[in-house]
Amino acid sequence: MAGTSGKSTHPGSLSVVIIGSGPAAWAAAIYAARANLRPLVIEGAVTEENRLKGTLPLGQLALTTEVENYPGYAAGGLAEYLDSAIDADRRKYMPPHGGHGISGPELMELMRQQAVNFGTEILTDDVVEVNFRKRPFELTCLEGRRLKSQSVIVATGARANYLGLPSEERFKNQGVSACAVCDGALPRFRNRPLVVVGGGDSAMEESTFLSKFASTVYLVHRRDAFRASKIMADRVLANKKIQVKWNSIVDEVLGSDEQGVTGVRVRSTVDKAKHEELAVSGYFAAIGHTPNTDFLGGQLELTEKRYIKWTTPARTYTSVEGVFAAGDVADDYYRQAITAAGSGCMAALDAERWLASKGFH
Ligand SMILES: Cc1cc2nc3c(=O)[nH]c(=O)nc-3n(C[C@H](O)[C@H](O)[C@H](O)COP(=O)(O)OP(=O)(O)OC[C@H]3O[C@@H](n4cnc5c(N)ncnc54)[C@H](O)[C@@H]3O)c2cc1C
Repeated sequence: MAGTSGKSTHPGSLSVVIIGSGPAAWAAAIYAARANLRPLVIEGAVTEENRLKGTLPLGQLALTTEVENYPGYAAGGLAEYLDSAIDADRRKYMPPHGGHGISGPELMELMRQQAVNFGTEILTDDVVEVNFRKRPFELTCLEGRRLKSQSVIVATGARANYLGLPSEERFKNQGVSACAVCDGALPRFRNRPLVVVGGGDSAMEESTFLSKFASTVYLVHRRDAFRASKIMADRVLANKKIQVKWNSIVDEVLGSDEQGVTGVRVRSTVDKAKHEELAVSGYFAAIGHTPNTDFLGGQLELTEKRYIKWTTPARTYTSVEGVFAAGDVADDYYRQAITAAGSGCMAALDAERWLASKGFH
């Protein structure tokens, strides 16, 4: 089994397969493993395509540096703890500990290790096709492996959309972000001018949130009117700290290796020759997210925005009995590590109870 934490002990049908590798998947695995369900996590493949999309194993949180809002990790040195908690084989490839609370990659490695400690098996591959019409369900992986499982937890997350500029990529974690709630309070953004790109509800939310910390927020939008709901747009327009740059796009993020982002170049969408440079310390892309649901081939009911639909309030049930969804793949609203982990726990409990009700152990 490529990239597993151990040899497969399940040549036949599994009880529960968890697809994904963010906080939702690992929380689900920890609960399922402790309930003796012997879960298999299919954590995603290490491919160039996944690197470019931002969907490598360990999920969205592994793409960020400091995580200051996950309960239990107050500021302080964790180096020794990390050395003792995480397998040496993986620890040696992790970035050095920054000496301040916990980083995204560290938190994700700890979650993964905790799942492994309770007997979770891991397959480092992408699920490319599912068959939820058959029971047990069938899953096909990129490398050709086929697996059968009585229940499935989909925790494949949603990736943040960026404009696709090479300069955005260059300054990720050095002033470029796609999550104001996550990063807005970091020291590098406080009392500094920032820029937000977008014109929908998320852009309104992100710029309003950032205006609490920033000296000025420039909101760059390519049209002359927002797509956002009127109430949210009005809130932005009434906010004295937010300056809207209408009919404009960011065509370059400016900066240096030492300082990270120092500005952006903004070009008019009406008069292509017209451009200006804005001095900012941070750039926030707020142009939506893409849920990782294509591989489901339309076999689960999705929302308009292609997120998996939870069919029962406060449960992780999907439109197919025995298939559960957790984390950002089913949540276009909260999108936080703690909420993803919380719904991962719920999905494992839902799966366990469903398996028991069907007489599967
Ligand atoms: C820049 C940035 C900074 C952030 N900072 C914070 C923060 O400080 N605090 C916070 O609480 N939240 C933060 N977030 C949000 C947080 O990362 C997400 O809410 C959380 O990671 C969602 O977890 P998840 O388990 O639903 O999925 P994800 O973390 O998105 O992980 C899903 C993973 O599943 C795997 N996968 C996808 N498709 C397949 C498939 N077909 N087969 C197999 N595997 C697959 C991929 O590896 C994918 O990355 C941040 C997000 C970003 C983008």
